[in-house]
Amino acid sequence: MTEKNITTKVQVFAYTELNEEDKKLVDMAKQATQASYAPYSHYHVGAALLLDNGQYFIGANQENAAFAGICGERSAIYAAGAQYPGVPVRKLAITAAQDGEIVAEPVAPCGVCRQAILEFEKNAPHPIEILLAGREQVYRLESIASTLPLCFKDF
Ligand SMILES: [Zn+2]
Repeated sequence: MTEKNITTKVQVFAYTELNEEDKKLVDMAKQATQASYAPYSHYHVGAALLLDNGQYFIGANQENAAFAGICGERSAIYAAGAQYPGVPVRKLAITAAQDGEIVAEPVAPCGVCRQAILEFEKNAPHPIEILLAGREQVYRLESIASTLPLCFKDF
């Protein structure tokens, strides 16, 4: 028997340490929390992404009584995919708000969103940089695959 250790590199930034492009994405994600429709969870997720063609997209979770809503991350990436099919996603920022405030700790995407974003990453010529934002700190990951060790993939 042998053991394998799988590690994920996370760079931790103060918001003020981010470059201007990353600040803009985080700001857009924070703003997008206000577009969330979350009468059941009261957890307002906002996402913002930048495509390689320079276009930005936002997303926010949209719930319904059947609990068959969609997360903020997927609403953003699917909107981008519908508008610009095949254009790679360069970066994706994610955050959330509760009780009208951005949450203190950075938030990470759910497993379904990780798998959905991975599909976009596998079709792109480069990884998708992920920014997970809390009120003050931002975690930067070099790819969505790094959030999904031993992921299910056909490539
Ligand atoms: Zn999700």
